[in-house]
Amino acid sequence: MLYKSSRGAEGLMTSAYAIKMGLAEDGGLYIPAQIPKFTQEDIQEMVEMDYHTLTVKILKEFLTDYTYLELVSATDAAYSEKKFGAKPVKLQILSNSTGVYELWHGPTCAFKDMALQLMPQLLTRALEKTGEDKKVVILVATSGDTGKAALEGFKNVEGTEIIVFYPSEGVSPAQQLQMTTTEGNNVKVFGIKGNFDDAQRAVKKLFVDADFAKELADGGFILSSANSINWGRLVPQIVYYFSAYCDAIKNDVIQFGDKVDFAVPTGNFGDILAGYYAKEMGLPIHKLICASNSNDVLTEFINTGVYNKNREFVKTISPSMDILVSSNLERLLYHMLNLDGAKVTEYMNDLQSKGTYNIPGKIMEKIRNVFAGYKVTEQETLDRMQLTHAVKNYLVDPHTAVALEAANRYQNDNPTDKHFCIVLSTANPYKFSKDVLQAVDKDYVSQTVESDMQHLQEKTGMEIPAPLQGLAKKPLLHQDIIEVGEMKEKIKGFLIKNS
Ligand SMILES: *Cc1c(COP(=O)(O)O)cnc(C)c1O
Repeated sequence: MLYKSSRGAEGLMTSAYAIKMGLAEDGGLYIPAQIPKFTQEDIQEMVEMDYHTLTVKILKEFLTDYTYLELVSATDAAYSEKKFGAKPVKLQILSNSTGVYELWHGPTCAFKDMALQLMPQLLTRALEKTGEDKKVVILVATSGDTGKAALEGFKNVEGTEIIVFYPSEGVSPAQQLQMTTTEGNNVKVFGIKGNFDDAQRAVKKLFVDADFAKELADGGFILSSANSINWGRLVPQIVYYFSAYCDAIKNDVIQFGDKVDFAVPTGNFGDILAGYYAKEMGLPIHKLICASNSNDVLTEFINTGVYNKNREFVKTISPSMDILVSSNLERLLYHMLNLDGAKVTEYMNDLQSKGTYNIPGKIMEKIRNVFAGYKVTEQETLDRMQLTHAVKNYLVDPHTAVALEAANRYQNDNPTDKHFCIVLSTANPYKFSKDVLQAVDKDYVSQTVESDMQHLQEKTGMEIPAPLQGLAKKPLLHQDIIEVGEMKEKIKGFLIKNS
């Protein structure tokens, strides 16, 4: 399997090369040249597989330049019992029409661990395979969860340095503490004055800055990305769509061959795009429901065909979805435009120069065949958290609540569409205790991160996950808050100090 850029200007590359580079040289995203297909028998066999075996089965379709043993060792290292417990994913059945797939049992309590524990394993093997002698510097722009998950995935990984930039005013207190207390000899964290899009734009610019690349190369470094633009982030996420389907069969809520819907809380469009690949590979998916918070640029796009980032950036209680430029949508456009890289380049240039682009109706019809979009307001998010706790005695975080609400609305709007809906649950509620408490205990006045978590535990009986216990007592190791314009110098400073 070879990879090409969504902007069409680069030739075919191996998966190891695509994972090492992150972004293609022409600014595009790496895309598999064909999408592998599974037969119904293949999928039937998956029902009895454990998560590790299933992961290897799917990875080996895409990462054909890795040996089978490399994929097995990478997978075992990523999803070890020590990091994820006995089973990394869990299906909770809420009703005969809805289940919640918990993807947050990893070391940072967010679904990003599913990809970011595996990706460093794939990357270090990619360095060997491509004969790379330089150290890889991972630059991450984060809206909260990616930062910590990438730090945990890469800390102390041989041959790598990791530098994370987060919007200093745009992440939850627990998320900030998680990042700023990270230990490890190859990690650095900066808060930036700006929002997530400012951080992401600046990081993307550094990736295509030839002078900067030259300077780093002279020092023995190359840049790569752990953001969901990296194929190494995307491919592990395809696995849990298959595993969710198999778990729904095992729980007797569907029968083999039935179609299901997935509702996905969406920001950078990476998680839901993995669902598109799963569908194309033969998984019986009926609809992918794209759940947006108040930054509903994707829902608006799905409903109107106009992508328009010229709008107010809203800070919400689901901060990991506070994004106006959804990078992975570029991959979907490339597939929907029949692999026309020149057309994708045109739209992306429009986005850069005018902040908007407009996709023709015929293409939008194809997109709407697979995707439905729903915007969920802050109040609706709180109400959904409250209701799910009160009626189902089940606690969800604000991101998951956005998707649950979207799933519910989709089902109400399509009463004849009877498919079981699997809602992807992307974070443990304790990562967002303060906002969860707003929903389940309106009179509570938020105090410290620690006491909020304590109170939530007393109120709900749900246990505080081990990685979040004692967070406030850890030393703050990364306290710098910098201007976007200072990023380059700060990166150089850290690398010089560390080499
Ligand atoms: C990153 C994240 C999302 C959004 O996922 P995308 O792949 O960016 O669409 C949703 N919820 C949580 C908790 C996240 O961390």
